Amino acid sequence: MCIVMDEEVVKKYLKAGEIAWRVKYFISSYLRPGVKLLKLADIAEAMIKELGGQPAFPLNISINSIAAHKTPLLDEVGTIVENGDVVKVDIGVHVDGYIADTAVTVSFNDKLDLLIESAKEALEKSLSIIGSGVRFSSIGSVIEETARRYGFKSIRNLGGHSLGRYLIHAGDVIPNYNDVFQLGKFKSGKAYAIEPFISNGKGYVVESNEVGIYALAKTKFKKLTTQETQLVNQIADRFKTLPFCERWLAHEAGLPINTLRTTLNSLVLKNIIMKYPVLQEALSTSYVAQFEETVLIRDDVLIITNPKGSELRSL
Ligand code: MN
Ligand code: MN
Repeated sequence: MCIVMDEEVVKKYLKAGEIAWRVKYFISSYLRPGVKLLKLADIAEAMIKELGGQPAFPLNISINSIAAHKTPLLDEVGTIVENGDVVKVDIGVHVDGYIADTAVTVSFNDKLDLLIESAKEALEKSLSIIGSGVRFSSIGSVIEETARRYGFKSIRNLGGHSLGRYLIHAGDVIPNYNDVFQLGKFKSGKAYAIEPFISNGKGYVVESNEVGIYALAKTKFKKLTTQETQLVNQIADRFKTLPFCERWLAHEAGLPINTLRTTLNSLVLKNIIMKYPVLQEALSTSYVAQFEETVLIRDDVLIITNPKGSELRSL
């Protein structure tokens, strides 16, 4: 059975997708050694809003062995891209809650060309076989096999996902390896993000102690301080259940940075908000590459985060 996606919904996805690829292309040309990460995040997020969208999550800038969930902290003013860095930038845009999720790796290290190439190829091959009725594990198989052929490993505990309205992870997981226990299939009328992560390390990530990204976990709560209640209300109002970071709260919350961090931490301990720790390759000296596109599965496949859209599908 083919579920037809509402035309208005498709339009919103396409708009979110176009904003995402425009920002992605801007970032790819802007990134170079010396660029300040904090400035890059501020510029990219401002550009999303200027183009008529909202960030669906804080801009992720993950360098070298860091794989995901790293966004610049307010006091990381001096952190820059260095010569030799492999930089993953992951961009989320939503229009009325409909999310486009896309990522690109920009390398300033010639020795890692093949690693970058393998992740790019894994995504292209995945997109060439995706469609209604295709098993999630078939995508995982293609990604794992591509990584292996280059002598690398796909990261097993990171994967693609279905997308819902105001939901980055809407239930389905698209594995980055041939997971034989994963029996799910792509369904018409749904949006998915496909995101191979490939490394020259151990092939899995671990949580680091650093946290910069959070999301609201509960909307009903009691026994909160006045300050906590005010912050939670503000988060619920502005971001709903989408991920956010301290940069986004700093001005409006009207709290000094240390008070803001203390309040966020105490809300984490009370299970009101959840944290997304920075994820790092288990081998801290390794490098990780990632590419990601968002697709709408219909009778055809629309790659909304790529300007060539459905054309690319027929390659
Ligand atoms: Mn992403
Ligand atoms: Mn994603």
